[in-house]
Amino acid sequence: MAKPVTINIAALNKQINVPTGLFINNEFVPSVDSQELIHAVNPATEEVICSVVAASPKDIDLAVASARKAFQTTWGKNVTGFERSKLIHKLADLIERDAQELAELESLNNGKPMKIARDFDIGDSVQCLRYYAGWADKIIGQTIEVDNKTKLAFTRHEPIGVCGQIIPWNYPINMWAWKVAPALAVGCTIVMKPSELCPLTALKLSELVKEAGFPPGVVNTVPSLGPVGGAALAAHPDVDKVAFTGSTLTGRKVMEAAAKSNLKKVSLELGGKSPHLVFESADLDQAANWAALGICYNSGQDCTAGSRVYVQESVYDKFVELLVSKVKELVIGDGLDDKSGGGPVVSKSQYDRVWGYIEAGKQEGAKPILGGIKRAGKGYYVDPTIFTEIRPDMKIVKEEIFGPVLSVGRFSTEDEAISLANDTTYGLGAGLHSNDANQCMRVSSALEAGTVWVNQYNILNNNVPFGGKKQSGIGRELGSYALEEYTSVKAVHWNFGEKLDWPL
Ligand code: NAD
Repeated sequence: MAKPVTINIAALNKQINVPTGLFINNEFVPSVDSQELIHAVNPATEEVICSVVAASPKDIDLAVASARKAFQTTWGKNVTGFERSKLIHKLADLIERDAQELAELESLNNGKPMKIARDFDIGDSVQCLRYYAGWADKIIGQTIEVDNKTKLAFTRHEPIGVCGQIIPWNYPINMWAWKVAPALAVGCTIVMKPSELCPLTALKLSELVKEAGFPPGVVNTVPSLGPVGGAALAAHPDVDKVAFTGSTLTGRKVMEAAAKSNLKKVSLELGGKSPHLVFESADLDQAANWAALGICYNSGQDCTAGSRVYVQESVYDKFVELLVSKVKELVIGDGLDDKSGGGPVVSKSQYDRVWGYIEAGKQEGAKPILGGIKRAGKGYYVDPTIFTEIRPDMKIVKEEIFGPVLSVGRFSTEDEAISLANDTTYGLGAGLHSNDANQCMRVSSALEAGTVWVNQYNILNNNVPFGGKKQSGIGRELGSYALEEYTSVKAVHWNFGEKLDWPL
């Protein structure tokens, strides 16, 4: 057995017990053949919080075998939808019970404000589990008339089997819930690989999986380095599906590994470079609020971060003035401090990456009108930075930064706005602000993105699908659409009357 550790959170005068082992077959265990550890760091202080076991490829084999056994014996087609629903509801109840502690741990390891982790990330995750608990006994196929007298066919939507789920660090609990909930609802079993940067809450959630009463092997959790455990999972011949959220670069590798091994089903939720369009008829004050949210939320570490804003010439000056004043109001600080509306970025490498983009923006001639100056002291802080005087060929305009860095440009006509917005290899989110209903219809239809927000931004609902076009992904999460990602459709042809004459 791998032992839990007790973490002291001095700022809250509190202690939390965290499991440190791999969660396989409902037990926390050491690696079978590796001494490798993952060191979880608090990005606000740069201190190591604790270290957890890193899974090796052999550990991944064991986790997959445990998930396979559960699929064939205690889960999969062996439980009713009603039973699955009950357990998923129970898990949601337990997460709700422990929301405060989970939020503290999430904030400590990820840097995000604790109150946001509790009220939004965890609140939404509980709702996500309940939403899919509601689906568990409603997974139904179709009856198809083949001819009226002798034959019919029907379809069954069967659980696809063992699912590898690989998630990033920006919403560790939320991404866990988005993946686990639909997979459990349809009867799949899971090998979950959380990000090596933020593995702690996935381990804590695993404790709750056991407490809720899920049979051993239904959910397994294997923190690991991406190129080790993630790669082993994507390439595993006994994994039936891999669901991945992360960068486009890694998504490509996951798809290659899936293709080269057993052609497992793949869904990918990848990066973005999402645009906002602000038209002259818009409520500028509201548009500035949504644009500020779009780039500041989660310190810009959001796949749908609204990192490019294009404003109609006639309202450009007024809008930029409003936007800067709104962004300045946000307090960036330690996530454990209740006054913080934003925290540090997640790691040293993310900090260096974001500052690299800010320097590139300056060198390429963009004008920083807010931020762009490093803070002294500890913590991976990047204050929101706004650039104007941008060109389409600049790195800050073309590439995903994944930090609070915004490029603001201008347009004169609707056609020009659409063409600027679509000038990207990504297609995840897009926002438009206008009080002209016809324009909203025209532009939302022309934008090349999986999600378009009209007069709002970054708002998601568990019953509405989410996913990308172009190089932002394949497949959909959330809503009824996510169920398709975890089921395989079987057609059963039934003959109740036709006699076959033989030979032909
Ligand atoms: P990442 O691609 O570096 O890592 C994501 C996950 O993949 C991690 O668990 C990592 O360990 C694992 N991984 C790394 N190399 C691997 C490999 N060779 N094979 C298999 N797995 C491997 O991404 P990140 O830095 O953790 O997250 C940031 C990225 O995620 C951004 O590009 C962001 O846009 C994207 N993202 C997308 C969505 C979405 O829903 N579209 C949501 C959140 C984040």
